[in-house]
Amino acid sequence: MSNLAVGFHNRLLQELECPVCMEYMMPPIMLCNNGHNLCCNCRVTLDKCPICRGPFLKVRNVSLENIATETLYPCKNTLRGCTKLLTKNLIRPHADECTFDNHKCPFAKISNTGCNWRGTLDTVRRHVEANHKGSCVQRVSRKFKTVLHNVSCSQRYYQAIITMDELFYVSWRVQSGVFYCAVFYIGPKKGANNFRYRFSISTKDGDTYSASSLTHSYYENVNDVFRHGKCVMLDYSAVQRSCSENKDLPFRMEISVV
Ligand SMILES: [Zn+2]
Ligand SMILES: [Zn+2]
Ligand SMILES: [Zn+2]
Ligand SMILES: [Zn+2]
Repeated sequence: MSNLAVGFHNRLLQELECPVCMEYMMPPIMLCNNGHNLCCNCRVTLDKCPICRGPFLKVRNVSLENIATETLYPCKNTLRGCTKLLTKNLIRPHADECTFDNHKCPFAKISNTGCNWRGTLDTVRRHVEANHKGSCVQRVSRKFKTVLHNVSCSQRYYQAIITMDELFYVSWRVQSGVFYCAVFYIGPKKGANNFRYRFSISTKDGDTYSASSLTHSYYENVNDVFRHGKCVMLDYSAVQRSCSENKDLPFRMEISVV
């Protein structure tokens, strides 16, 4: 865009900002008696125009609505360097995979570990490998065996797993007699559907319990995943029967491409 066009486009975007919530207005755009515009969400919460205190009209600003649907909007990560300009219906799908998006460290996000790091998705793995070394980060082949130590109702467990050159984050917890296990894929949102995980345990009397699920997106809220039972769930009594004397739980896990 030429400087003139950029100036005009910025002016247009300003004009499309709702004076109350500062969001870009989408149809229906409401008008007051003196021609001020307001988004419909804010309109229902007010009985007078916030700018001139005049009454609202029952008409909509159709020409501004037409402009609003066709204008190109900047990505929310403009200040971080994303230069994408997209129509309103394409901006959300883009936001889900914008590589300039800022993410919390998975250890802080999923396990409440105190880590203040934030960065783009492609730098999460480098950060995890450099700053969370030790037993919490494991490089494994597709199938692996490991142990959760001292399994109890109050404990929450987490681990970063690097396999197939991808980074995953595993979270376990026990709640109301159910043992939950969820594997999060740390990458673009859609990528989570490309992987599946299987969690298996064997009790001391030889029964095997196994369950599997697609991996969850790093964008999903971990508590929602557990609350809605979207992950692997096993009866805690089966888990207890699989634990050793000192409450350690050996298990097998497999992460595979769907
Ligand atoms: Zn508004
Ligand atoms: Zn007004
Ligand atoms: Zn973007
Ligand atoms: Zn961190």
